[in-house]
Amino acid sequence: MSTRRKFLYGSLFSSAAVLAGKKLFAATDQVPAPVKDQAIVISTWDFGQAANAEAWKVLQPGGKALDAVEAGVKVPEADPNNQSVGYGGLPDRDGRVTLDACIMDERYNCGSVMCLEHIMHPISVARLVMEKTPHIVLVGDGALQFALANGFKKENLLTPKSEHDWKEWLKTSKYEPVMNIENKLYKKEEGPMPGGPNNHDTIGMIAMDNNGDLSGACTTSGMAFKLHGRVGDSPIIGAGLYVDNEIGAATSSGVGEEVIRIVGSHLVVELMRQGYAPEAACKKAVERIIRRNPEKAKNIQVGFLAMNKKGQYGAYALQKGFTYSVKSGKEDKIYTSKSIY
Ligand code: ASP
Repeated sequence: MSTRRKFLYGSLFSSAAVLAGKKLFAATDQVPAPVKDQAIVISTWDFGQAANAEAWKVLQPGGKALDAVEAGVKVPEADPNNQSVGYGGLPDRDGRVTLDACIMDERYNCGSVMCLEHIMHPISVARLVMEKTPHIVLVGDGALQFALANGFKKENLLTPKSEHDWKEWLKTSKYEPVMNIENKLYKKEEGPMPGGPNNHDTIGMIAMDNNGDLSGACTTSGMAFKLHGRVGDSPIIGAGLYVDNEIGAATSSGVGEEVIRIVGSHLVVELMRQGYAPEAACKKAVERIIRRNPEKAKNIQVGFLAMNKKGQYGAYALQKGFTYSVKSGKEDKIYTSKSIY
């Protein structure tokens, strides 16, 4: 095609686009109607199902994904029987319950709190950091002061059950994060699992709303009996959670140190950008953990969970036993992820 003809074609197309654009603009002056059946929420572990139900109350009538993920993860945060998230979480080796959480919306806004004590809903503090400060992360006492200044109540988060488990653990003080009970890492003959079957775990939640926007939240009490001040992947944007509204979102659970090393959730999103489906992207990230240290990878658990912009989801883990929950207009299910070992 000659340069002149190219130019003519080009200007014809752009005039048509301008006209069409004008027309489209006029037609979308009003708020677009929610697309039916597009909303979906996914979260790590089987306890994600109750959290999804709460998130769904926001999503189903057309609420925002950001509000949904915050409302959703508040369920395990407030559950005293969940010993790996929020109230009732197992303490560190000094008997202190220290919480980590982060949240990310559809415009790369994010907020995080690390090693926060005495506050039942760290996710809501993380959201306030995102919305009310020019910062992304607040830690420890600074995070607590910020929470108290913003009306959060100071509470004792150590339940009698978690205190009891901690005192039992103190008898040996053996720090050996054992992974989920279903796999070979836990040997029954060694006695009860330190800290019970839930000596770790995190809720990572990703939602897509009826506008097609994605948001995510991640909250945990981290590894039971950790060193005081230890922070895992969960509140680290890019490690425990990442949301890119153009591509998709990912979250993780398991040994946080290994996830941080590979900036796991960001990696999963970037793999989806390259065209991998969510499950394949999660698998690639898990394989990267193995490549770094194959021997170590045999003895730890890490699982990734992801969703792309089409609302397709998938997960992959190192070990058996990683479950995730899904709620949409079509299903309300708990799935077991595929795993390498
Ligand atoms: N990722 C969390 C942490 O390292 C624990 C977990 O999800 O199992 O603190």
